[in-house]
Amino acid sequence: MPPAYLAGKIDSPGGEESFDVKVSHRSSTLQANEDYTTLEMLCAGLARIRLDHQRVQDGTPLQSTTQDGPALPQAWRAARRRLWWMGRVAGLNWPRNDLNLFAHCRVPLSTWPVGLSLAEGDLTAVLLDGDELSEFAEEAAALAGHADVEAELVQNQTFRALVTCAQRNGTSEREVPRNYVRLRRLLIAEPVLSDRRVLALARIFPAAEASGELFIRQFLGTAYTFRPEPGKVRLAVCQGCGNPADGAVGNCPTPGCTGPTGTQTFETLDGYWLQHRATRRFFHDPGLVETRILDRLAELPPSAVEVEAWPLLDAWDSAVTFVPSAPGHPVERWVIDAKDCASPTQLARGFSSDARIMARRRIIVLPMHRDKVPGYRTDLVRELDGRVSGIEVLNEEEFVRQVTRRALQVVAR
Ligand SMILES: [Zn+2]
Repeated sequence: MPPAYLAGKIDSPGGEESFDVKVSHRSSTLQANEDYTTLEMLCAGLARIRLDHQRVQDGTPLQSTTQDGPALPQAWRAARRRLWWMGRVAGLNWPRNDLNLFAHCRVPLSTWPVGLSLAEGDLTAVLLDGDELSEFAEEAAALAGHADVEAELVQNQTFRALVTCAQRNGTSEREVPRNYVRLRRLLIAEPVLSDRRVLALARIFPAAEASGELFIRQFLGTAYTFRPEPGKVRLAVCQGCGNPADGAVGNCPTPGCTGPTGTQTFETLDGYWLQHRATRRFFHDPGLVETRILDRLAELPPSAVEVEAWPLLDAWDSAVTFVPSAPGHPVERWVIDAKDCASPTQLARGFSSDARIMARRRIIVLPMHRDKVPGYRTDLVRELDGRVSGIEVLNEEEFVRQVTRRALQVVAR
């Protein structure tokens, strides 16, 4: 029997945000990748449910308790949502609820109504063996291992797919970083893509796997989810950051954005691609300050300053090199990371200074909306102290001012 508290916790998947309406538009490689991701999430959820169940038996308070009783783990709910969308695309109403899905955890994966794209050997696996996680489920859960499992997986997979696409479409040492910058900027500039736009991108990035599948399709299929809607699609989007407005009234919820809501029309063949929430969270939103700075740096004379965006495929956000006016003058380089984080403490805890690039100054650049928060910079500097050395903190205006001043000195030299 499933833990008793599972009964009665049935919400409507349709009422929640949906991410994955792209089954018929995915290649088999991508499909398999996605299906393994779904199972990893589901198993991470099962592992958590089992842990909570043990705690109930031991009399230990549950961490995930809500007013209505124990909440199902986020990973389980995310996986169930993904399966429900797969079912919907296949014309099924499955899984109908949590108990229904729980029952399927006890039967071989090959019998699941949505037809999972898995290796043949894995199709015979069950997820629950009696009340215990099966070996397969244990291994899948171990691969997940993060509170927001889905977001972490999408973030890592998007980054890997981006790098692969950049590398496989580049034949020289100069082309690969150029591709990387172009694809990275795409994630920041275009949170929504029509399928016509995707076709145009496929012409720019034509490299394909031996199976014929384009690397750009794999990248976009990981970072975005497909929404079927042929013809003309009108979406409410923020005119500041480009994120879909999602029916939000008033201020744009993107940190630091004050853009008004407008509408954008997309001409589609079959539908459009919408950024996955993890792509938005890890690439698009923090990328806004990164591109703002890059655009300001691009205004400086190239005779004085060379700017490299995301050098060494993202060791830093930018490397700024002041061109020596005469041979023999030492090269001066600054590297920066623009960081748009809500918590300065967590920013510092997660920050590492990549030493592969030689630089005179290493700078964390804060967007203005973070630097304006009282105590933010003090907390950041305090938390950085002792963790990393030689890191300066500036806001984006201060940084651009200092680069400009230094560039003028170089030109005048
Ligand atoms: Zn906005």
